Amino acid sequence: MQFLKWAWALFVFLFLTAVTQIGGVIYWLSLFLGRWTDTLSKKRWIRAVYRLASFFILYGLATFLLVPLLARPLGRVPLPLRETHSLQPLNGMSCLLNRHYVRADLRQTAFAVAEQMNERFPETKINYLDANFPFFNGFPLLPHLSHNDGKKLDLAFCYRDSKTGEASNGSPSFSGYGVCEEARAEEKNTADFCAQEGYWQYSILTKILSQSKKADYVFDAERTKALVELYASDPKVGKIFIEPHLKSRLGLNSDKVRFHGCGAVRHDDHIHVQLK
Ligand SMILES: [Zn+2]
Repeated sequence: MQFLKWAWALFVFLFLTAVTQIGGVIYWLSLFLGRWTDTLSKKRWIRAVYRLASFFILYGLATFLLVPLLARPLGRVPLPLRETHSLQPLNGMSCLLNRHYVRADLRQTAFAVAEQMNERFPETKINYLDANFPFFNGFPLLPHLSHNDGKKLDLAFCYRDSKTGEASNGSPSFSGYGVCEEARAEEKNTADFCAQEGYWQYSILTKILSQSKKADYVFDAERTKALVELYASDPKVGKIFIEPHLKSRLGLNSDKVRFHGCGAVRHDDHIHVQLK
């Protein structure tokens, strides 16, 4: 039994570390704290509630107070929790899971681009997706292997409401991933090409994430093109990944806009930006 207990604790530690970076350490701390909270009641279910509560309280304090303070001198800052300079998280879970950290110069660029988008297209807010964890170069933000140095940021495309035709700040995907603006019949179909080459993972997100809101939105080519071009015009930005058929459809000429390769996942659901 003791072995099973330790194996379970190790599994939870590894899982929380992979998903939130700091969650595993917080879990261990809450286990130690549990030795004290266990003395407060004889009822098993009350003890379990205390343990769970101590984990969530410690995790919340660390995520929102301690981690931003520690990450800054080590070179990373959090992106905003709520709309700031027209930049916002598409899904608050990114912030809750500590997946919204970037280098300060990338945050500066992200604010500047979002503000320019808002000036050019009033009411526009730019939705950011996964960025990086707060600490350690080389620690990947799964499933994105390259998001490991504070220099990477994913952004949602811009959309229009399919019923009204009005510009929207929403997204057909809950997470911002997996709902794609596919290649038309006459366009280069990279997803098919990569599948034929044997890269089974290339379109995996389209199969596991909900497509139920896809019909509610249409891809906004004009604003998405402007968004990519604004990032491309920043000298600090080194590469931007978007699916090849969208690069040609939008007429994106910058040589920073590249194909990411079949070894990654498709990028006709979001934009990936990285610093030099
Ligand atoms: Zn990315």
